[in-house]
Amino acid sequence: MSSEPVQGFLKLCASQGPQARRTRNPSEYHVACGPGRVNGQEQSVMQFTLLSMRGPLTFPPFARGSPMRRALLASAFAIAASFATADDSLSLEWAVDAHYADAQALARAAAHFQHVRVDRKHQRLSVITDATGMDLLRSEGLEVSIDHVASAQLHQALARADAARRSGVVEYGSSGCPGIPGYACYRTVEGTYQTMDDLVVAHPGIVEIDAIGPSWKKTQNASQGYEMRALRITNLATAATDPDRPKLVAFSSIHAREYAPAELMTRFAEWLVNGYGIDPEATWLVDHNDFRLILQANPDGRKKAEDGILWRKNIDNIDGACGSSNFVGIDLNRNFPFHWNITNGGGSSGDTCDETYRGPLRQSEPETENLVGYVAGTCNDAGECSGGVFADRRSGSMAGTAGSDDGNAAPDDTRGIFFDMHSYSDLVLWSWGDTSTAAPNGTQLRTLGRRLAWFNDYTPQQADELYATDGTTDDTIYGLLGVPAYTFELDDEFFQQCASFENTTVQKNIDALRYSARSLHAPYRLPAGPDTLAVDANGADLVATGTPVDITAQLDSSRFNQSNGTETVRPIAGANAYVDQLPWDAGATPIAMNAADGAFNSSSETANASLSTTGWSNGRHRVMVQGVAATTAQAGTPNAVWVDVAGAGDIATLGGHVTAQGNGAPVSATVTVSNVGTGEIRSVDTNPADGAYARTMLAGSVAVHVSAQGFLDEDLPAVNLVGGQTTVRDFAMIPRCTLFEDDIEAGCAAWVAQSPWSIVGNVSGNTTQAWSTGTYADNLQRSLTSSATISVTGYSDFEFAFDDRCDTENGYDFGYAEFSTDGGGSWSRVYGCDGRPSWASHRIELPAAVNGASGLKLRFLFTSDSSVSRPGWAIDNVRLTAGGEACRAQQQSDLIFADGFDFD
Ligand SMILES: [Zn+2]
Repeated sequence: MSSEPVQGFLKLCASQGPQARRTRNPSEYHVACGPGRVNGQEQSVMQFTLLSMRGPLTFPPFARGSPMRRALLASAFAIAASFATADDSLSLEWAVDAHYADAQALARAAAHFQHVRVDRKHQRLSVITDATGMDLLRSEGLEVSIDHVASAQLHQALARADAARRSGVVEYGSSGCPGIPGYACYRTVEGTYQTMDDLVVAHPGIVEIDAIGPSWKKTQNASQGYEMRALRITNLATAATDPDRPKLVAFSSIHAREYAPAELMTRFAEWLVNGYGIDPEATWLVDHNDFRLILQANPDGRKKAEDGILWRKNIDNIDGACGSSNFVGIDLNRNFPFHWNITNGGGSSGDTCDETYRGPLRQSEPETENLVGYVAGTCNDAGECSGGVFADRRSGSMAGTAGSDDGNAAPDDTRGIFFDMHSYSDLVLWSWGDTSTAAPNGTQLRTLGRRLAWFNDYTPQQADELYATDGTTDDTIYGLLGVPAYTFELDDEFFQQCASFENTTVQKNIDALRYSARSLHAPYRLPAGPDTLAVDANGADLVATGTPVDITAQLDSSRFNQSNGTETVRPIAGANAYVDQLPWDAGATPIAMNAADGAFNSSSETANASLSTTGWSNGRHRVMVQGVAATTAQAGTPNAVWVDVAGAGDIATLGGHVTAQGNGAPVSATVTVSNVGTGEIRSVDTNPADGAYARTMLAGSVAVHVSAQGFLDEDLPAVNLVGGQTTVRDFAMIPRCTLFEDDIEAGCAAWVAQSPWSIVGNVSGNTTQAWSTGTYADNLQRSLTSSATISVTGYSDFEFAFDDRCDTENGYDFGYAEFSTDGGGSWSRVYGCDGRPSWASHRIELPAAVNGASGLKLRFLFTSDSSVSRPGWAIDNVRLTAGGEACRAQQQSDLIFADGFDFD
């Protein structure tokens, strides 16, 4: 069954009301509806056979024409469409809502599922599940309904990924690395590994890769599968003399279909590494802590999920053999050794075909063995471990006793934090998952959990609160080692849309991770104290020795997520600054700060201090600020700023104006000054009113880089700055070059257009001429391609800009913008749209891989499916601009050097 007839059938049936009857085979249905058109042919009655993959679909005996019956059937069609588009898809599932009566009913219902979203206010839960799951909910006495909108989104997402995969077109995400088809923001396993390699090459002093063992597939065939990797980020030069620095260990995407976690942690790694030496917070975190990020914790499974399959487990089809190849494998997050299978089936499954199959033995899988060996080392049955990244700070036996918390609390001075990043459900979870008893460190785990959940606004709770789990990563790390261990369930979908991932998920979770990193020294203590949000030297980032520096810090002790129980908020009793010391260093000297409002007495305070720099050595100094809570005197999570000190005669100033070449208009630009020899780097923005800037810097030979939107970057590789003097450099910025431009007012010569593309003057919302598909036919794949190959030799930093109106059938008919560097032989996709009847302007940076190409072709590719038409896709004002040396040479033929502009 191909996808096209099924989708057409699906949509037609949805509008007309289908009927189904069971055949003699209990897992087979004949579904019929009509009359109507499919693939252009008039049909009186259409029918197809719906086969259940995993046994019979149980259609309850609703009366014909009842809403529930129609709902079930519509969902069945959606499932069938998914079958047809992704032939080994696990998408026998849809989005289901259920109303529960009380907490006991919620717990009973939730126990049947992973990834339950709970709306406690309206007593509703939402799950993605199949017919069996719906029966389970009903058997617990819940009212069940299908969320058609969410179900359609789920199936569209799967279909979109599948279409992208089948097209063979490479999509690039914002990282510049190839992304998962249909979800370009998520790096593939190879893209993630490439990023790790690139980070090591670019920053060998702070990044290395630990190979931690082969994936299951690689154990079967050394030429296949993956060597699993941990990305290690720390100051490697000082690591050997400071082996006990606090560790942050994170696993991500151990459940393969959870796209977002691996990318989130890759972004966090990039924040740490790229901020090192530039951002004071990132720098002290890397200098004094040790990050171990297993970005792809289940690479074999992830590779399957990248094909648009909702794959969760590893791919071990020996231990995890199952009659259907779609359900083989072991749930690695039920295969961890501590208290493995302790809940007698409540927290994991013994059925090899189940999503939560725990494996035949604890730690039976190579992935589990690699991860436990790396983090905990070798552990005996008494739960004593040695040789791993974390020290063992807690008793607790491997096998344990059901319902018991088994062992003592880890001491308050335990260092480090463990994360296992999953999606989805909007949760921050901590141990225990296998019993409702609070963990021995439960109060402290809860305090930090509520801090973390303040940042991402997820619900903080003990993992067992909704349903039991056993053999999990976090219970094993906390249970065996005593390290605080958290599972995040990010946002709302396995295959989360890139727009929501980029716009919301990344920043709020990186903020939570930064807070956790600043707490690594004492995660059981610091979160009970105030958080230092920011420290500011008020522009005094470089001062002459002896010049006093005013330091300001913002502190807040109230940042707890209070949506699930109440954490005590203590007023801030004081704040201290520390110069070149960590607050917890032996013999550290606190400098008391003042409350800006006169008294430390509330949960939000601004603290300030005037620090004398007399006697400070020349060079960079770190000022760290830590708040103290009332009543408990507990110190909180610190933050830092830099103050650089030099002799007055050593400080120089670079100043001038940045204007546009030609008309001399002031330009909003950023001027970055760097000294390659010393690593000093400082930047300043121009005043938009007159383009003026001034930047202090240590005397010496510096490089100056000026960047501004719409202009070529300007670089002065060597400017000699003299101490005590101001050196003037003005910049006349050269506009970027336009390599191709068509406003579609001068005819069609620039394009090769396949029908139905044509130039029209009547597209809604546009008074000029534009290319348009118009109201289109079914089953099209038609391109509008630039006729000439655009010569781009010597150009770089390409930007592809156009306006469009994408009034297509939402979720079924698409417009794509693509480029080719081989004359149209192969195409790379940089843009896709559907279902948007308004005009929008786009500026798309082409990936760095385009730099160095000799020629470029652009095209707009329209695709429609087997039914339903709309006014179509329209394109106007197409433009390709570029920078690079060829552009500079071209523009310099007209260049008049502005006064003061020169090359030193
Ligand atoms: Zn998961």
